[in-house]
Parts: sequence; C-alpha cells; structure tokens
Amino acid sequence: MKYSALLLMLLAFNCQLLFAASTADESVMARFIRYVQINTQSDDTSTTVPTSANQIEFAKQLTQELRELGVKDVRMSEFGFVYALLPANSKAEGLNIQPFGLIAHLDTSPGISGNNVKPIVHRNYQGGDIVLPADPKQVIRVAANPVLNTLIGDDIITADGTTLLGSDDKAGIAAIMDLVARLQKTPEIVHGDIAIAFTPDEETSMGIEKFDVANFPADVAYTVDGGALGNITNETWHAREVKIEFIGQNAHTGKAKGAMINAGYAAASFITRLPVSQRAEETDGRTGFIHLEKANLAVSSAEIEILLRDFKLTDLDKKSELIHDLASKTQKDFPNTEIKVQILDNYQNMYEVIKQHPYLVDYAMQATVRAGIIPKQTAARWGTDGSSLSFMGLPSPDIFTGGHNFHSKLEFNSRKGLEGTAETLFQLSQVFVENAKIESKKR
Ligand SMILES: [Zn+2]
Repeated sequence: MKYSALLLMLLAFNCQLLFAASTADESVMARFIRYVQINTQSDDTSTTVPTSANQIEFAKQLTQELRELGVKDVRMSEFGFVYALLPANSKAEGLNIQPFGLIAHLDTSPGISGNNVKPIVHRNYQGGDIVLPADPKQVIRVAANPVLNTLIGDDIITADGTTLLGSDDKAGIAAIMDLVARLQKTPEIVHGDIAIAFTPDEETSMGIEKFDVANFPADVAYTVDGGALGNITNETWHAREVKIEFIGQNAHTGKAKGAMINAGYAAASFITRLPVSQRAEETDGRTGFIHLEKANLAVSSAEIEILLRDFKLTDLDKKSELIHDLASKTQKDFPNTEIKVQILDNYQNMYEVIKQHPYLVDYAMQATVRAGIIPKQTAARWGTDGSSLSFMGLPSPDIFTGGHNFHSKLEFNSRKGLEGTAETLFQLSQVFVENAKIESKKR
C-alpha cells in the first residue's frame, strides 16, 4: 500500500512537471485549441456573476497556469475575475516604463452552444467554401467571407458545425498567455509592468461592473477581443434603450363596444411610424440605427423595446427626440391609450475617453506594423468591455484577435490570426519600453 501510494505521488509529481513544461513551451495555436474545448458559455437568464459555474472553473485553471508560468501576483475574485501582474524585469531598472493592462473575457456567447466544442484545423487551406463536417448545412462561404481569399496556405480553425468555436474570446486569452510564457522564457528581453485580467460575462454584459479598477496595477489597458487581423478599435456606440408602455382597457369581446381600449393597435401604429431607412438592417459604417428589438402586444397593455445606437451623441439625441415625437403623434391618434416612454443610457462611445490618451492607439498601431500586419483603426458597431472600462477610469481600446463570425457556428480563426495577435502583443510590450527610453533621453 505504502509503495503504491508513493508511486502515485511520484506519478502525480511527474505529471505536474510535464504539465508545467508543456504550458510554458506550448504554441499559441495549441493553447487556443486546448482552451476552446473548455465550455465557458455564459447564461443570460442568470442574475449571478459569473452567470455560469464553468467560467469559475476556467478562471481557476488560468490562475493555476499563470502560477506555473512563474507569475507570483495572481488572484481570482469571488466573481471569477483573474487578475495578475507580470512585474517589470531586472532589465527594466532605471527605465520608467509605463505599466499597461491586457484584458480578455472568459465566457462565450449564451446564444450558441459552447458544449463539447470540437476544433478542426483545416491545414494549408487552398481556397473554396468550408463545409463543417458534423452539420453539412453549416458552410463558411467565400462569398460571405471574402477574408478567406487572404488566408490561402494558412491553417484555418473551425468548430465541427454543432457549436460555436469560442475564438471570441479564447483567442485573446491564448495570445495573452502566450505573451506571459514568452517573456518569462526570455528574461533578457526588457519589459515593464504588464497587468492582466481575464473577465467573466462579457457576452451578458453582467461582468464588467465588478471589475476591480481601483486595484488594477495599470492606468491604461487594451481589451484583446476584436475581429479581423489589424483592426484596432477606439470607438464604440453611444447606446440607449427605449421602453414604451401602452396601457389599454380589457373588456369581454361580446360587450367590447365603447368599453375596450386595445393597447395593441396603438403599439402597432407606433411601430409603423419608425423610419425604415434608420433600421439596423438598412445601415452600416458610421451610420447609427433605431432597432425594434421586441414587442409584446395584448389588449390591456403592450410593451415595445427599441435600441438606439449612434457614434455621435448629438445624433443619438436626435433619435431620442424622434422617439418622443412619434410617441406624441401616436398619442394624438389614440387618446384613450396611456403611452409612457422611458429612455435609458446603456453605454457610451469609449472614444470620448480614449481621445484624451491618443498614444494608446498609436502604440497599438505601431505594434501591429512591427508584427507585419497592416493596422486599421475601426469603430465597433457594438459595445465592448472597453466601453464600460474607459468610463470606469481605465481607458481600454480593443485589439484584434484574428477571429471571424463571432457568436455563430461558422466562427473561425487561423494560425496567422493567432500568431499575429500574439506577436502584436509582444511588440506592444516593446513599444512601451522604447517610448520609456525616448522619454528618459529627453530628461
Ligand atoms: Zn468577445
């Protein structure tokens, strides 16, 4: 018994050593493939943070891996946030290198299954549509994804057609972990303080307000949660949500005349007044929209939910005014129905904050060029955790991950996408070093 217990202990010890060696030397591709197989689907019906227990499990695993990579300052919060600090190394002594943060989210979209993800590597892609084997109806078509034309010869990674891939945002996590492993392995390379956070519930928007900005050891950060290679995002929507309530009066249909006030008709009338040209499906680029999200029509009451989005606050205000105007016109036509309009702020365009720190985007663009990728400044037609963080005091533009078709069974990334992202993060650490050197010469 004693002997077998000792053997078990030795075996466990050996396994740990093997594990430690493998995570330190693992390629970003291997790391990514390992992470996407861990289900971290968030749950938008839950009210706890994190909204799913599997996110905590992944957070624990990343905490452990960071420690195995030699990072001493690692902690996990009760909400499933992993915080770590890779401190400036001895080579950075005397240089006043500005600390910066890197942030990626743990969860995947609640909308598409993240259970039992089977990543498939389509090696040396030679063009053409990609049929996903477990559900041949799921086809990544070149016509819908012209970016495929730029990936000839690359290794493309997809799921099998039954789940999402989870590149959003395991690609960001893999790239950040790759940077940590790389800097730990090469102590001769100078770097400053790099603060890291892996956050739960980006997809449900439930997590970010629990982010511990006060104790995060950097004043600026980047989320690594973007799409196409090269895209640096410094703008998001200004976003508002409209709730309109129509209150009627129910009565027996047989005795409805003169007694019933059907709220459904007032609501329907309001909907038809919404401008077609401003629908989400009619707009793109920098044009905002008024999107009918949901309608619940019944006799006694009806509710409508509408999303307002614009990059400019003045244009968003115009959309809010239009909603009030259409509501009062509807009220005139339906005097017996009570109409209540409520407009709430969702999130704001992070550009309002990021424009005060223009070097943040400059550095990311420089790092991208150094990684051999053409950078492009983009405005996201959605919110990012960075839009909240920027207004919580941590300006955080977004860096690409190389991924495409997020929140879909057709999601994909590629070797060049992952390696390019990882290399950009490494170059970013060096851009911060070089700017410190330039500053120290000025002094
Ligand atoms: Zn994401």
